[in-house]
Amino acid sequence: MSRVYNFSAGPAVLPEEVLKEAQEEMMDYRGCGMSVMEMSHRSKMFQTIIDEAEADLRELMNIPDNYKVLFLQGGAALQFAGVPMNLMKNGVADYIVTGQWAKKAYVEAQKYGKVNKVASSEDETFSYIPDCSDLPIDEDADYVYICMNNTIYGTVFHELPNTKGKTLVADISSCFLSEPLDVTKFGLVYGGVQKNVGPSGVQIVIIREDLIREDLPQWVPTMMSYKVQADNGSMYNTPPCYGIYICGKVFKWIKGLGGLEAMKKRNEEKAAVLYDFLDSSKMFKGTVRKEDRSLMNVPFVTGDKDLDAKFVAEAKEAGFENLKGHRTVGGMRASIYNAMPKEGVEKLVEFMKKFEAENA
Ligand code: PLP
Repeated sequence: MSRVYNFSAGPAVLPEEVLKEAQEEMMDYRGCGMSVMEMSHRSKMFQTIIDEAEADLRELMNIPDNYKVLFLQGGAALQFAGVPMNLMKNGVADYIVTGQWAKKAYVEAQKYGKVNKVASSEDETFSYIPDCSDLPIDEDADYVYICMNNTIYGTVFHELPNTKGKTLVADISSCFLSEPLDVTKFGLVYGGVQKNVGPSGVQIVIIREDLIREDLPQWVPTMMSYKVQADNGSMYNTPPCYGIYICGKVFKWIKGLGGLEAMKKRNEEKAAVLYDFLDSSKMFKGTVRKEDRSLMNVPFVTGDKDLDAKFVAEAKEAGFENLKGHRTVGGMRASIYNAMPKEGVEKLVEFMKKFEAENA
């Protein structure tokens, strides 16, 4: 067996310990004679899996009791609709557009009400986080929406926007569990799990209880109602059982490493290896304003498209996968989520140094 260094923006690398454990349990989960994929979601055994996953996530993120944790399916993109369907009571929301995912959420929300773009960084290809200290927040806004970490552009909100008292909602897909997050600053956070947490398809919604509405419009699909999902313990229908089981294992893996403070330290050290090199290189350049850099996604360019393509091809040959940048930024992007070992980034930087020397 040989495993590559996978720098994919998602689905991403999972911890090897988790994959190995899942492999061992694949055919016979803890002596029950079947796989988690095969067992009833109404069984005691699966109930224990989902309960433990929730308890571990609550502990890791320090989630207060007045927040519900929902394990849903359909990917993060389904919540681009789920959020406005459930939270737009006045029919108004303010969106901060800092990348393609925020933009998609902004466009989707327009199907359900009046949506204001209160800030954007599109003028400079989303390479920075706009000043959000004094936004033109709509008096009637039901919430203010951000995409916390912008996967494609490699920016992150180091400081949360001033919402002037309105509920803050965040898509945390690509920074989920990468560092501590004060959940109490948000009414709702959600994310697809396929970067730091588990297999694609599962999404986790963490919502303050008072935002869960009973009076949703008749047209809201039952499956999209947070109330229905909360009342049914995320099991209104058959949940993505196997995905939830893997998420649970990842939560335990993070706990074993020392929790989110330890994960942050690990991620900071890892990202510094790459950023320090980018800041010293004559060939490679980071594309993001330094103060807005993400710990998770690191886009960079040489400034020469042919050289970029040569780099991506040679890197692949050398066992560094999925380094091609998004088409709107060009160049390269190294996604260095929780499970990417520091050694992977060190080896990548060694390779970049060699490439620079050979192609200068
Ligand atoms: N939000 C962010 C920040 C993402 O990075 C992605 C996917 O990469 C999505 C949403 C969409 O997620 P999904 O494919 O699970 O719908």
